[in-house]
Amino acid sequence: MPMISSQEAQNIILQLVDVLTHTETISLDEAIGRILAQPITSPFDFPYWDNSAMDGYGVRFDDVSPGEQNKYISLDLVTEIAAGINPTISIRSGQACRIFTGGMLPDGVDTIIMQENTRQEGEKVTILEPPQYLGQFVRKRGTFYQANDTLLSPGIKINEAEIAVLATSQCSQVTVYRRPRVAILSTGNELISPSQTLQPGQIIDSNQYALKAFILKQGGVPINLGIVKDEKEIIKQKIIEAINCSDVVLSTGGVSVGDYDYVEQILEELGGKIYINTVAIKPGKPLTVAKFDNGCLYFGLPGNPVSALVSCWRFVKLALDKLSGIKGDYQPQFIQAKSFHDLSSNGQRETYVWGRLNFSNGEAIFELAKGSQNSANLINLALTNALAVLPVGVTKINQGDKVNILSL
Ligand code: AMP
Ligand code: MG
Repeated sequence: MPMISSQEAQNIILQLVDVLTHTETISLDEAIGRILAQPITSPFDFPYWDNSAMDGYGVRFDDVSPGEQNKYISLDLVTEIAAGINPTISIRSGQACRIFTGGMLPDGVDTIIMQENTRQEGEKVTILEPPQYLGQFVRKRGTFYQANDTLLSPGIKINEAEIAVLATSQCSQVTVYRRPRVAILSTGNELISPSQTLQPGQIIDSNQYALKAFILKQGGVPINLGIVKDEKEIIKQKIIEAINCSDVVLSTGGVSVGDYDYVEQILEELGGKIYINTVAIKPGKPLTVAKFDNGCLYFGLPGNPVSALVSCWRFVKLALDKLSGIKGDYQPQFIQAKSFHDLSSNGQRETYVWGRLNFSNGEAIFELAKGSQNSANLINLALTNALAVLPVGVTKINQGDKVNILSL
């Protein structure tokens, strides 16, 4: 299978993803971070009724408009309306009402005079400054939203602002897509778990934890299947378990060309169709992508910790976005920043280097992580928040030049 570009890999992966169809209905309290699966409408206009945007006085514009002869107009105060009160009387010509922010306008009132522009004496209020226009400081019914229009569409992520909209629409229950289930397994004879004692030659399995964290951040349900020895039958059994319990499998290691790299062979033996096995990207060249008849999408990621995470950030993220039901174009979101350092690549593969995106006087600046940019070096990956990309054919980006950034 030939090496393909990262753009081709992205296209193939996205084509392989079937959007989840299963939904579940949950309480609004649990909805944060979930993907909406139903259109939301409200039977109410918003604002629900005309109300005051200020503490002040409700008047009839015609009584107080700037065209009137008298500079200071005095009106009879006939009632007081706080927020939450349903006003029952009508305000006639020559009358006004005391009203507070959010208070519902009574019949007859069409304009609010803010309290700072008035003087109240007993049952009289004097208007010191006429309103600029009819309807000043009135929040008119239905100006923010009209009943039964679509408020929120399926495919959006529910964050705090959407929670507010759902609450105001009295949606105490909301239908969302179920979370994608992602099985995670680490292959390698050298691997031990963090709780084991390190013996010479061994490596602590960090990928299992890094990928779990990535999946949780993506809104998926991680299913940690642990460490698997580089023995074909054992890996095979674990992969069978993985593809039967998940929508997506992420395995790390065993996809290079070493003697112990069995993953691709096993996937084929199990009936998986392999679509990708090498991508022109650095780090992350060995990337196996396969699909099974039950719909399970398999990512065989490289074992090196940085390579595994870069593959997730660059490819798996887009696949999970689509799978989760998010509506969008599933493109990596690159932004431009000024490079604080010279960046280099051999120009053969799309190359990612890691570091920090900072803002200085409003300008985005990318600073390379200190220490080795080696795909086995997970240490200096900590505290980075961005990857800078050097496209194929670009061997150098000079300090001070613009570079594309994938913010993490
Ligand atoms: P592989 O892709 O299996 O050849 O592994 C490449 C490198 O990544 C080797 O140095 C492995 O020891 C290391 N590696 C593989 N799996 C993991 C893991 N789960 N956690 C940390 N390092 C790993
Ligand atoms: Mg290995």
